[in-house]
Amino acid sequence: MHAFEKLPQLVDKRGKLVHKGSYAKRKNGVNSITTRVWHHSLTKLSAGGSKIESFADFHVRTNGWPEIAYALIIDPKHVIDGRAAIYYCVDIAKRSYHVGNSNTIGLGICVIGDYRTDKLSEATIRSIIDLHKALMADGIGKYDKAHNEMPGYSWKACCVFDYNKAFKDILSDMLPVIKQPDPVPGLYTIQEGDTFWSIALKDGKEGITVEDLIAANPDIKPSQLKVGQTIKFGTAKNTYTPTPETPKKEQSEYKYPLPAGVLKTGSTDKAAIEQLQNALNAVDFKCGTADGIYGDKTKDAVTRFQKVYLPYEVDGTYGPNTKSKLQAVLKSKGY
Ligand SMILES: [Zn+2]
Repeated sequence: MHAFEKLPQLVDKRGKLVHKGSYAKRKNGVNSITTRVWHHSLTKLSAGGSKIESFADFHVRTNGWPEIAYALIIDPKHVIDGRAAIYYCVDIAKRSYHVGNSNTIGLGICVIGDYRTDKLSEATIRSIIDLHKALMADGIGKYDKAHNEMPGYSWKACCVFDYNKAFKDILSDMLPVIKQPDPVPGLYTIQEGDTFWSIALKDGKEGITVEDLIAANPDIKPSQLKVGQTIKFGTAKNTYTPTPETPKKEQSEYKYPLPAGVLKTGSTDKAAIEQLQNALNAVDFKCGTADGIYGDKTKDAVTRFQKVYLPYEVDGTYGPNTKSKLQAVLKSKGY
């Protein structure tokens, strides 16, 4: 058993969070790890979703990854004997997704909080120190790096706090240091585990939204990204301009008009189902020939669409929310 596993504030969450399958093992297991990579969650501590269950849900259901991104997560909101809880989320022998092409050698450690504005608490710093010391004693990794010190990520505002200072155990001196990230590059090369959602950081924290990426990269299917593929990234900013003021357009004026109401397995409105099928096919959520029958293929396509765009409403049923997202995606593709 590793020393870090014996830390009193460690809580084993392996296999207990939402997952869909499992990450593959690192090539040489734990010995593959050269670098302990420090992240922060970029979610304010005061926010409701600033917790591991929400991260797992986002990484698995929205990003489509097998498990939560980080092996270890420090949670300032749960203090055990003066130390922030350390959740052991993914077995360290597994190659989880958090630094693209460096996933094999990187161990992902995330401190919950947005340290552009949040402050590291003493209990948090204590756990950073304990974990760091234990991992060094275990011989897990040789180097420490911030996420934005890894190849291809210099533009990420992660982790922003000065992890090096924390290791030195100088608590009084422990003020977060905001490093100015590099500007977002114009082009981005797809790395392992990337999705349009993970690149855009869900709500466009780098100023680029998923809809921007879709609109600026019309030849690329968001569901079929390939490692090494280059996409427009910084230059994609504001490519998609939503104009909620003017959707007074009649559905009949759209190339792919969308039906109103609810459609699901067993629905009989053939014309409406056909419209939905044509729209799904147009945005590459293929459901086969538009035959006006809400069968397994259509339900599956709606489900896949919801997993990407409405991760909290994945039920395979078409309703008003699916309609408005589908409308936005059609628009971002120029329809
Ligand atoms: Zn990060």
